[in-house]
Amino acid sequence: MSSEWDKTCLVCGIRTENRCSSCAKAGIDLFFCSPDHQKLMWKWHRRVCGPGKANPFIWPLLSQLEADEIIEHMHESTGTFAEPGPGPSTVAEGVQYSLRLSPEKLAYIVPKVTEGAPMSIWDGHLAAQQTVLACVRAYETMRIKHTLYKRSSPPIDALKALVGHDFIVATNKEYGTEPWRTQYRHFVLAKIVLHDLDRLTRHREPPAEWRRLTRECIIVFENVVISRTHPEIVEYLHEKRARRALKDEARAKARAAATEL
Ligand SMILES: [Zn+2]
Ligand SMILES: [Zn+2]
Repeated sequence: MSSEWDKTCLVCGIRTENRCSSCAKAGIDLFFCSPDHQKLMWKWHRRVCGPGKANPFIWPLLSQLEADEIIEHMHESTGTFAEPGPGPSTVAEGVQYSLRLSPEKLAYIVPKVTEGAPMSIWDGHLAAQQTVLACVRAYETMRIKHTLYKRSSPPIDALKALVGHDFIVATNKEYGTEPWRTQYRHFVLAKIVLHDLDRLTRHREPPAEWRRLTRECIIVFENVVISRTHPEIVEYLHEKRARRALKDEARAKARAAATEL
């Protein structure tokens, strides 16, 4: 079992010297033990692979489909509270609260962060473009999250799930470009893809084991690398995992008690 985060295949966690060559050109080492394992991740990795995308990690533009969905459902509840108020916020309200962007502006700006839009308007404003992309995707993720981990739901959008994760981790911090965030996002994206593969294959091996291994790599990475500069983030993640473990335990107990009756 590997307890290291470097030089391990992003899919199966074994030690390897094989890197994604395109990402190596971008100055980041992301390991895949075999073409098969690189292919397994390719649908998602390709959108954040290579120079200009991988390092620093750049949130890809919205696909036309994503953009249409966001605009169409921007007045639906996210089920969470973006700000103290009488009820859960909509996507538009969440973005308004986080970015001070009115719903009319949101409808205007979404097409500007969609594939095919001229990028010249973002010249010198890449950070703002990235914040818009992350924020819009994060609230959209909250809106659709109830469909995510159900047994019968379709494969998840790993990139949306990643931004949801990232948004939670980064809530109390501005979106930074520290090197660890880049590495961490690539890891977590892999973990999300494996998590979903595990679900879709009904917890068969090997995806179930791959998922455990990437999870371990991520925890070591948090403890060793992230805690150096952001111990509060690591502490928060630990607490969150502990809470979830308690909940799972309680649920398992209830299930066992029910079968005894
Ligand atoms: Zn592998
Ligand atoms: Zn790559």
